[in-house]
Amino acid sequence: MRAAVLRGPRALGVESIEAPRPGPGEVLLRVRAAGICGTDYRIFTGERAVEYPLVPGHEFIGEVAALGTGVDRLAVGDRVAVEPNWGCGACDLCFDGSGNLCLARTAVGIDRAGGFAELAALPERACWVAPRALTDDQLLLTEPLAVVVRAVARGAPRAGESAAVVGAGTLGLLALQVLRAHGCRVLVVSRTARRLELARILGAAAVVALGAGDAVAAARALSGRDGVDLVVETAGTAAAIEFTLGHVGFVRPGGRVVLTGLPHEPAAVSLFWLVRREIDVRGSMIYQQEFGEALALLARGAIEVAPLLTHRFPLAEIGAALETHRRPEAIKVAVLPGAASA
Ligand SMILES: [Zn+2]
Ligand SMILES: [Zn+2]
Repeated sequence: MRAAVLRGPRALGVESIEAPRPGPGEVLLRVRAAGICGTDYRIFTGERAVEYPLVPGHEFIGEVAALGTGVDRLAVGDRVAVEPNWGCGACDLCFDGSGNLCLARTAVGIDRAGGFAELAALPERACWVAPRALTDDQLLLTEPLAVVVRAVARGAPRAGESAAVVGAGTLGLLALQVLRAHGCRVLVVSRTARRLELARILGAAAVVALGAGDAVAAARALSGRDGVDLVVETAGTAAAIEFTLGHVGFVRPGGRVVLTGLPHEPAAVSLFWLVRREIDVRGSMIYQQEFGEALALLARGAIEVAPLLTHRFPLAEIGAALETHRRPEAIKVAVLPGAASA
């Protein structure tokens, strides 16, 4: 089969390699589409350490092509979304139900071969059968949507509350929609002014460009009090974290802040006002049980995905796909291993 094989930092090429064979309890998937996210780019550059060679790709969907022994829930031809992380099942964190925090977690496309390939072998339990009505484009957003469903739930939103989303990439624009599904009015703050128009189309009650507009004034205007009830930070950059936690009156006294963009760089933040105002800051790490809810939201049409899927590339052009992911006009870039090269 053809697969994108990473043999070292930035040494990524499409090669013919032996097709994986599904072990006991596993299925073989014919990959229909794989999304690119910041983690994939960090793996590509070597900032995120992995063992080489590696077939990366963790956001993907496929069709069951063959069954390993002992598989009884899936059938050949089923269309599935892959849940690409699972805990070891044998540690205290896993016993607590916190497999997302397990130190021996397995991540597909990082610890084992992933979806930038024509075929991938996955445990049956990592595969969610697609609700029939979902298109491939909708299904492809299940994984980032599950991240967002958890992040929003960690902020305990209530209908009628005001919320702010920092960052207007895939996670931010999904968080906007999930908060709206919870009945919140949402302010979107983005460094990229051109995303604000899209945020409006997707239902933001207010938008403001980070650095240009007055986000604190916008938060006060939307909430009618001294900041919004809830903030979901999705960008993970130092600037976004410093903005989110460093501005008095962006989140109200007693409000909640959820950080879900992974902050790879240190941020300089004064914590005085967090204490003085009893602001509750929570991390949110991928997902525990949120895949089902993500699929349900997609199935009931609560999430618009078309404007988020901005670029598609055949597998042979994975290098161009990764570089496009970095461009400001790209939101979600998809690789289609079934598509012929242009
Ligand atoms: Zn990802
Ligand atoms: Zn564990």
